[in-house]
Amino acid sequence: MNLIGQEFPQIAAIATTPAATKLLQPICQTLGATLWMPESCQQAINSTVNAEIYTDSLKNHLANIWQNYSAIVFCLASGAVVRLISPLLQDKYHDPAVVVVDEAGKFVISLCSGHQGGADKMTNVLARLLNATPIITGASHNLGLPGIDILGKPFGWRRGKGDWNRVSGIVARGEAVQVIQEVGSRLWQEHLPQNHPFDFGFPEIGDRSSPTPKARIWISFTQRQFAPDSDLPKVQWHPRVLWIGVGCERGTSKKLIATGIQQVFQANHLAEGAIAGIVTIDIKADEIGLVEFCQEQNLPLLTFPAELLSCVEVPTPSNVVAQEVGTPSVAEAAAILGAKEGRRKKEEGRRKKEEGRRKKWIETQAPTNYKYCVEGGILNPKEEDNFNSELKENTDNLSSNFQGINEGNLLVRKQIFRLEGEPGAATIAVALAQKEYTGRTGKLLLIGTGPGKLEQMTPAAQTAISYADVVIGYSLYIDLIQPLLNPGQIVEKLPITQEKERAERAIELANFGLNVAVVSSGDCGIYGMAGLVLEQLRATGWDGKIPMVEVFPGVSALQSAAARVGAPLMHDFCAISLSDLLTPWEVIEKRLNAVAMADFVVALYNPKSQKRTEQLVKAVNIFLEYRKPETPVAIVRSVYRENEEITLTSLDKLLEFSIDMLTVILIGNESTGIYNNWMITPRGYSTINN
Ligand code: SAH
Repeated sequence: MNLIGQEFPQIAAIATTPAATKLLQPICQTLGATLWMPESCQQAINSTVNAEIYTDSLKNHLANIWQNYSAIVFCLASGAVVRLISPLLQDKYHDPAVVVVDEAGKFVISLCSGHQGGADKMTNVLARLLNATPIITGASHNLGLPGIDILGKPFGWRRGKGDWNRVSGIVARGEAVQVIQEVGSRLWQEHLPQNHPFDFGFPEIGDRSSPTPKARIWISFTQRQFAPDSDLPKVQWHPRVLWIGVGCERGTSKKLIATGIQQVFQANHLAEGAIAGIVTIDIKADEIGLVEFCQEQNLPLLTFPAELLSCVEVPTPSNVVAQEVGTPSVAEAAAILGAKEGRRKKEEGRRKKEEGRRKKWIETQAPTNYKYCVEGGILNPKEEDNFNSELKENTDNLSSNFQGINEGNLLVRKQIFRLEGEPGAATIAVALAQKEYTGRTGKLLLIGTGPGKLEQMTPAAQTAISYADVVIGYSLYIDLIQPLLNPGQIVEKLPITQEKERAERAIELANFGLNVAVVSSGDCGIYGMAGLVLEQLRATGWDGKIPMVEVFPGVSALQSAAARVGAPLMHDFCAISLSDLLTPWEVIEKRLNAVAMADFVVALYNPKSQKRTEQLVKAVNIFLEYRKPETPVAIVRSVYRENEEITLTSLDKLLEFSIDMLTVILIGNESTGIYNNWMITPRGYSTINN
């Protein structure tokens, strides 16, 4: 799978010398990128990379392809790149991400469109692939902060109007920025560095203790009109929490539906960026105007049967509608159901679990002003500058159909629209969901981080960690991978005992739409988190596809330990965990007997803990029944970590040494020997080989 290819569907790499061509080839293969080069470089191609020749000058060629790619990687001097791209640059919202790699492959520079275009993220990923140093000069990155203009991206939020440059500048200077978040995930708030400049929530009237904010970030579903000359620059993000219920006559045009929605949104100061999706009755699933509108706007179209819609209590039921389609309400009932079920409908089979989570969300994560919104009505977006006065109930300016936020979650009652010259008629209502629809398919990246040192981790695993929105793992392993983590990433450390909780949490976040890295030490598929996550997915009716799963192997403790003592695993071997927490001891004992008898080299994982001390004694006694007392044994503790300890001994003396949960034990077979402190198992048995 091409991990970041999905984020950068069109990547071009540009080489002008054979050395650059060689350097860029593997990257292009991994990312599915097109490698552009002059004819003179063709001979340097030695793999099945997607390579293209340009015959024009590079300057002209760039002008031709500039708009076709979402990211361009140059292997060229950065000065040359600056001159080449300068006539083409528009602004950071339209330009592709531009990344520069030096020919020696030592540095990767994020040159342009670091946030919006994703050049920073790409730089981190390429640096991992090339084992190079990433160079990111964006101010927020260096402060350890998520970019203001990308912080909602993982949650599928849409960027609204505002003075993004000024607010970003204020954040970069570390000046106080007020954040008013009415809806949407708050995960991004929980993982900020200590001295972040954000001030959350509503200030008390007359409160002088917190510094006067120099900028404001709104995270809401309302469309705020900011005065352009205001002293307080503002921006707005829109989490996708609004579900639009639509009922319509057969043949209603796309234009009519679009105009109706636009009018409802304008009249009620709702942000179109906050639209999660369109909901209707199932007999309208093929209604051309609706389908086309959704396709054009890239919105999901959800449908519910009349029986379900008729169970929903609505403010304006209609007998006529009931007689026609079997439910007294389509638009209002569909909007309400969409807001309640929208995300879940996309995740069939997980309904019950979601309900529990939703309740928990309200108890633990609901916006602090959620209660205020419920009781006091929606804030008046027009009075945005006069912030404290908004705390008074003020819904006067909103249209008479505006419901405020009530328990039934309907925001705008149904309204009927017709349009001169356009066929049909549509009723439109809007409801608010408690959790945003991200519109993203989450991924679970199950990662083995190797024994400890970063250099023992595969580049693929490092890349995946850099790429993830969320990293979950036992705190010790998270500390070990700290240098790989990026600002804005959500990092959740959980105690070692809570593996199941870690798996559940990872699945929950992936179902929400995030890319979640779950890290295990060693290999994640060897007594690691990969099995727990996959088991848990299977238990919840996973279809094998969504969320997507990719497993990244790592160097397991037995390989690391073996490497440090020589070549003890040279012939047939197996691993046995002595932990009987999840496996009955009888099973473990049976296997110990079998492998001891069959003369496998054996790696004992989880040999002994403070509470479990007897298992190792029993295991050694079993081996002594079948193997010589002088059978070589390696006791390896914290391999490739600080405080690594290596002891070579024999089976009969094994129990004399201190052994704990950070230790793995290798027991040789009948041919294994120790030679000048190296433990060696012959590759073949001489009697067979000769
Ligand atoms: N997934 C891990 C194993 C986890 S089970 C892997 O593939 O290595 C935990 C056990 O692994 C520990 O009790 C210990 O026996 C072994 N182990 C893990 N890391 C180790 C290390 N760095 N040094 C020695 N043993 C280790």
